[in-house]
Amino acid sequence: MRRLIAAVLAGILLSAFRTPTLVKASHDLAVSNIEVTRNEILLNFPETATVRLSLTNDIEITSVVLEYGTEQQTCGEVIAKAFPEFIPGTTVDTQWTWEMRQSGSLPPGTQLWWRWRLTDANGDETVTETQTTTWLDDEHNWKTFNNGEFLRLHYYEGNQAFINELSSAAYDGLQFNETQSGLSAESPINIYIYSDTDDLKDAILYEPSWTGGQAFPDHDIVILGISESDLAWGQAAIVHELTHVLVGHLTFSCLGDVPTWLNEGLAVYSEGGLDSLSQRQLEDAIRNDTLLSVRSISGGFSEVPDKAYLSYSQSYSIINFLIESYGQDKMTELLLSLRDGLTIDNALTQTYGFDIDGLEDAWRQAIGAQPRPVSAQPTAEPTPTFVPTIVPISGGFPALQVTPTPVSTSSGNGQPTEPTPTRTGPPLSLTLILLGMCCMFLLVIGIFVLGFIVRRDNMKAGKNE
Ligand SMILES: [Zn+2]
Repeated sequence: MRRLIAAVLAGILLSAFRTPTLVKASHDLAVSNIEVTRNEILLNFPETATVRLSLTNDIEITSVVLEYGTEQQTCGEVIAKAFPEFIPGTTVDTQWTWEMRQSGSLPPGTQLWWRWRLTDANGDETVTETQTTTWLDDEHNWKTFNNGEFLRLHYYEGNQAFINELSSAAYDGLQFNETQSGLSAESPINIYIYSDTDDLKDAILYEPSWTGGQAFPDHDIVILGISESDLAWGQAAIVHELTHVLVGHLTFSCLGDVPTWLNEGLAVYSEGGLDSLSQRQLEDAIRNDTLLSVRSISGGFSEVPDKAYLSYSQSYSIINFLIESYGQDKMTELLLSLRDGLTIDNALTQTYGFDIDGLEDAWRQAIGAQPRPVSAQPTAEPTPTFVPTIVPISGGFPALQVTPTPVSTSSGNGQPTEPTPTRTGPPLSLTLILLGMCCMFLLVIGIFVLGFIVRRDNMKAGKNE
């Protein structure tokens, strides 16, 4: 109820203010004689952040602009601005509420910053010192465990042994990535460990119900729901998501895009390979010649679970082939070409001397699969669909243990880490098949009922005879 009232109040306040707009930062400004008596932020996680300002000045303040944002990798220097309502005078009291449902959900642990740009009646401008805070709930008693230079594990449940296990898995994952895949951390990565999936879901807006973990490479943040009974899954998931952060960092640019098979393949590779179930599924696909084309797993993975799992296994197999055959230096070269804006075909050709089809041919040969079927439209790429980036789990595939790709974390001044996945409706072919099946079903029922009536009538007729 408290939350509802807060939300309603925030809504009323927000409606009175102008929508934040994106503008370029202006020049540096002179210092004025303003006395700020209150400059604070109130977090209503995960919904809103309200920034408040109170000040006095000898000269009337005529303009108050809030500049705010998040600390993250962005394309270009943009600053969000908000224009809170206030009464011009020598005393100013004002506030502005950042609505996360409007701007896009931010991952827990995001560093928020803000500052005020004030203008007095003489036209002199003053900018207050930039303040920062961590976007996080105050419901959980968060503790932090640092492991080395790059790992910050934040948790509120589980004993030290549990955290140690996760921490060393993460550490080993970083080492593996550095030595085997040529991916190294450049800045600390914050890993938020929720005690279960429900707590994780409460922390992020707009997430599908099966979220198990998520990487936000632009923020250097990983979030996971790991209970103590899920330690083995958690150890794999933490490495998987960390790898997405490393890949995101290495390839960050406003130009290129990393195909899904490459990103997910590296993540599964860093886990140490496939579990026995996934390995079997891959071998079946090789034997039955049901492998998916590499082009078809460049955009989005299928929503059909079997195909999705095979997509992960194949992605791993392709990465394993590339790294084992050509080494990690070539992998780094490939990722850097993608960062520099090359298409995947050009990046592959420049690095390895073959394009996607050539890669598929070489990979199929290496794993003993049938040659690639020659399609009438070899370059056709499927429309990307919603991508569940599942962490393969040994011994089964529980529905909860899946991790989607990062959602847009745009806060008005940032770039989404990856295109926001949109859940599309069922394909037309599926709809038609279902429709056809319904008609068939009705027809069968109709024939059955008709037959029954005719038989009954016949029987009645017989009796009457
Ligand atoms: Zn993934």
